[in-house]
Amino acid sequence: MYLKKLISYNCHCFLFKIDKGLFLHFVLVTLLILTLVSCNSEGFWKPQTLKVSEGFHDPIGFYDKKPTFSWRLPVNNSISSQSAYRIVAASDSLLLPYNADIWDSKKTSANKSTWIKYEGNELNSRKKVFWQVQCWDQSDNASNWSNIAHFELGLLNNEDWKAKWISLPKNSTIDSTPGEELLYQPQYIAKDFTISDDIDYARLYITSKGVFEASINGEKVGNDLMTPGWTAYNKRIETLTYDITAHLKKGKNRIGALLGEGWFAGRLGWKKASWKTKASPRLLAQLEINYKNGERKTILTDATWKATREGPLRYSGIYDGEVYDATKELLGWNKSGYNFDNWSFVEEIPIDKEIKLVPKRHETVKDKNRLVAKTITKAEKGKIIFDFGQNLAGVPLLRIPVKKGEKVTIRFAEMLKKDGTLYTENYRTAKSTDYYIPKTNGLIHYKPKFTFHGFRYVEISGYDESIKPDESWVLAVAQHSDFKSNGNFSSSNEKLNQLQSNINWSLKSNFFDIPTDCPQRDERLGWTGDAQVFAPTSIFNTDVYAFWASWLNTMRDEQEDNGSIPLVIPNVLGNKFSSGWADAATVVPWELYLRTGDIEILEDNFDMMKKLVSYYETKAEKSIPNVFSFCDWLQPYSNLDDGLDARFGDTPKELVNTAYYGRSVALTLKAANVLNRANDVNYLKNLLDSIKIAFQNSFLNENGKLKTSTETQTGYLMAVGFDLVSKEMANKIKPYFIRQINTANNHLRTGFLGTPLLPKVMEYYKRSDLMYAILMKETYPSWFYSINQGATTMWERWDSYSSLNGFSKSGMNSFNHYAYGAIGQWMYEGIAGIRPLEAGYKKILIQPLIGRKLTEAAASYDSMYGIISTSWKKTESSFSIDITIPPNTTAKVVLPWNQKDKINLNGKALLESSENLKSVRKQKTKIELEIAAGTFTFKIF
Ligand code: BGC
Repeated sequence: MYLKKLISYNCHCFLFKIDKGLFLHFVLVTLLILTLVSCNSEGFWKPQTLKVSEGFHDPIGFYDKKPTFSWRLPVNNSISSQSAYRIVAASDSLLLPYNADIWDSKKTSANKSTWIKYEGNELNSRKKVFWQVQCWDQSDNASNWSNIAHFELGLLNNEDWKAKWISLPKNSTIDSTPGEELLYQPQYIAKDFTISDDIDYARLYITSKGVFEASINGEKVGNDLMTPGWTAYNKRIETLTYDITAHLKKGKNRIGALLGEGWFAGRLGWKKASWKTKASPRLLAQLEINYKNGERKTILTDATWKATREGPLRYSGIYDGEVYDATKELLGWNKSGYNFDNWSFVEEIPIDKEIKLVPKRHETVKDKNRLVAKTITKAEKGKIIFDFGQNLAGVPLLRIPVKKGEKVTIRFAEMLKKDGTLYTENYRTAKSTDYYIPKTNGLIHYKPKFTFHGFRYVEISGYDESIKPDESWVLAVAQHSDFKSNGNFSSSNEKLNQLQSNINWSLKSNFFDIPTDCPQRDERLGWTGDAQVFAPTSIFNTDVYAFWASWLNTMRDEQEDNGSIPLVIPNVLGNKFSSGWADAATVVPWELYLRTGDIEILEDNFDMMKKLVSYYETKAEKSIPNVFSFCDWLQPYSNLDDGLDARFGDTPKELVNTAYYGRSVALTLKAANVLNRANDVNYLKNLLDSIKIAFQNSFLNENGKLKTSTETQTGYLMAVGFDLVSKEMANKIKPYFIRQINTANNHLRTGFLGTPLLPKVMEYYKRSDLMYAILMKETYPSWFYSINQGATTMWERWDSYSSLNGFSKSGMNSFNHYAYGAIGQWMYEGIAGIRPLEAGYKKILIQPLIGRKLTEAAASYDSMYGIISTSWKKTESSFSIDITIPPNTTAKVVLPWNQKDKINLNGKALLESSENLKSVRKQKTKIELEIAAGTFTFKIF
């Protein structure tokens, strides 16, 4: 340490006296010495996995000028927790760690290693910040400095944009889509520019109203898809930043952009979006080229750019698919040299002041997995069907032989009919068909650009039939927002494992820039109800914090002045409200806080949460809100028979409204407590009390039985699961509730809202055995039922298909809907037994619930502190479990126990003085242990 300080001191003194080259040399030598010092020092360790804000590694075009910093301590038996940290930030990595010119937190005593707020001077657009952290362990031993991380801000304000929106004037092609909406043929846009000097670095700031793909000198910029993604385009549009230094060359260069209608101008939902009145896709781009001589050259979109609609991409729409006409190819259009004199000049339109331009705040959609067809079949002449064995969202990648002038038609389906042809009724009006018109005989390579499909099967017709098809002709490319896998679950039950896989695939298929209900039919909208029930499960499976935080930003943008939250976010369905759906505004922020521990998500969304509560209040009479509700959507065996109303289930609207009103108030109250808002706490507490009283009095009789015309599982589940009744009343409810389950022969009778509450209430009543029974039912309605019918994703309905009765009659019959996948939360928390005791898993509860039929289960979750995992095994005579607890956290472990049992820790009889063991409490049926970070194997026998 002394040596490092000395060197740093010397650096500082030399800084002003020697030239840059010499100084660099000196620094390199210094770094070398430091590396040697650290290698030779036994026990030296350093913080790892440095992230800013919602989990970004070294982002460019970053959105957050007040970021937070997080890191992990290494997994190392001697380091159990952090006692202090020091963060340093500088405008040049050479200034780190001891000459930080932006911020030095100084040594700060704290065990917090996540979400530390930046407290330096205000940062501006384009600023690049390098940062590093040092920690002290539980015994105040200092770590080495971490590696240097960095972030670079994008253009944060509309004023940073000197470019103008550009577009070809509106064309008037009318398609036959319902509503005869305008079709916007893709525009090919280009501009030449010259580079005269050596480049230091160059950035492309770019976005569109519509979707774009940019290229420079013929090469695609980045590997993002469908950018900039989907926000409320009349309020906030996200911008992308690319490092284009390597794309540029001295002399003549050309930038090109392909612009499609996307979510901005294409048809969506059933109603025209508010922003669509002035719709016509537009591009906005600003190239900033920084020369080594310190000068900056900017190229801006304006009326000097040229464009054409006469390119090969004839049409591209989200619901309907794409038309590619190779005879119209403009080979080399985006490289200088290609003559585009006959293209038209674009119109330029000034930037709208009221629409915020902000850097994209979560990962873009990308190509993620490539699947090879499992089989090919030919149900009809000239049509071959590729079966990928997996339902998914994405596009096909074709490499097929074709004949000049013979149009290739590419159709999709999630299921096949009995006769082996495609079942497409459930796409409703979405044509979901791609066409390719070849210009010569031979092999074509084709992947659609500005559309996506929900499919397991791809049908090709119009190929060269003289050649025998094989599986390699078509690949399925699964696409989704670019998050990484965060957790996994497995068990000794194959169907449970298939369920986990189905949940994961529906997640991947529906996290397409925003959380959608389904990826295939004419919806694909940000349905709030589906999102709120599935959010907790999604966080276990994948690293989706930024994804959700970004969607909540759009939700804030879309909240009505009266506090109402629209049905879908972004809002394309107008001013409508439903209880259980709008509550995404309180449930999602709370769940994100609980799982991450990041208080900022509550700070950002607290006003929205409060405004939603006020909305309910204005609609409530004697604490019973009178609002619309989709209720327990798609509850099976509804008394309302087959009609459309049956979809709402039998739990009355008033009950659902009051339950969700209470739920939203309770979560806003929790948030107010975390944020220390004393006035809000008092107010919300009283409000909640009055709702609870109203709920209990209105819907339950004094014996605990529902007073509603039909008793439903969901009615009881909401009462107990949302904690709306006294303990005494909950006890009275128990027999009535259990009777509802038993009379259904231990099947669920729940829809979107009731189903996720089953595990919680079963645990409350200490009837996890019953939860296991329901979960492992093979017959309708159940999770395994769809698996028995061959499901590879979650279905919208418990009976979307059955081998006996065929397809559900409704067109509303998606085979890729994640809502019922909400059970995934219990698979991690209940079966594998990993849950947060404190927000962000600073304190963890390990309490697996052992099921009758299950002999093994394992899960791991990559928390902010590192991997938490359990893996348990049950035999006739013993129970053993491996547990991993990451550094800087502690855990309470609760295991099944009987007074006569023995317990081993890591192969030896458990001693209460064992290392990393803080306390042991043996009770009648369980043993409770407090443990510190580390890996443990407990065996009870
Ligand atoms: C969607 C749902 C959504 C529902 C509203 C459907 O069309 O696909 O998942 O929540 O409408 O009840």
